[in-house]
Amino acid sequence: MIYTKEIRNITIAFFDFFLPRFCVSCSAKLNLDEDIICNNCLTKIEIATQARLTHEYQKKFKDHNLISDFFSLYVFEKDKELQHAIHALKYNNKFRVGVVLGKLLGAKLSKERFNWQIDLIIPIPLHQLKKAERGYNQSYYIAKGINSILQKTINENVVRRIRYTQSQTTMNISERKENISGAFKIRNIDKVKNKNILLVDDVITTGATISECGIILKNAGANNIYAASIAIAD
Ligand SMILES: [Zn+2]
Repeated sequence: MIYTKEIRNITIAFFDFFLPRFCVSCSAKLNLDEDIICNNCLTKIEIATQARLTHEYQKKFKDHNLISDFFSLYVFEKDKELQHAIHALKYNNKFRVGVVLGKLLGAKLSKERFNWQIDLIIPIPLHQLKKAERGYNQSYYIAKGINSILQKTINENVVRRIRYTQSQTTMNISERKENISGAFKIRNIDKVKNKNILLVDDVITTGATISECGIILKNAGANNIYAASIAIAD
């Protein structure tokens, strides 16, 4: 074990010398023990406390009784370390940001939400045009990171996004609800019926996207629906 770790470190040191790796957030050169984001940036990102999560659950999900519980790792802040990392994940082909942050999220879930009985992990799907444009679904890589810890099943095809929706960043909650309404469809009801499902997204803002996915999953007979994201935003 130590032997393989040493080999890994030597290999990374070798490549770092010729092809240095840089933090996606601050562009500093990464140390051997750092991956994608430097420790300095990671420690600056605000952690979502349980008090904050409880407050956000009341605000975003309590009314419609669809989402049994949710968890986010961080609080999203504009022009800060996490925004730079998520921007790189979504727009600069840095899909490994999703895996690395997803692993941290998975580790937290296994400790702080060990009571969730999850059968299936579903990343919030992108419309196929958007996926083609970006080349990948960032939430799928977050789900992969989570699943490297939780060891469940990921299904990225069972929910389909059938409408190409406008970017929601400038919309208020009712506009977002309207925008996302009817955007998803279940491909195979048998795959979700009676299942406990974890929905995964990069950032949960109003909760409208998660709730819309929750509605169609519940209509298809899903059991408990949970949600997890890298960050929570106002
Ligand atoms: Zn950094």
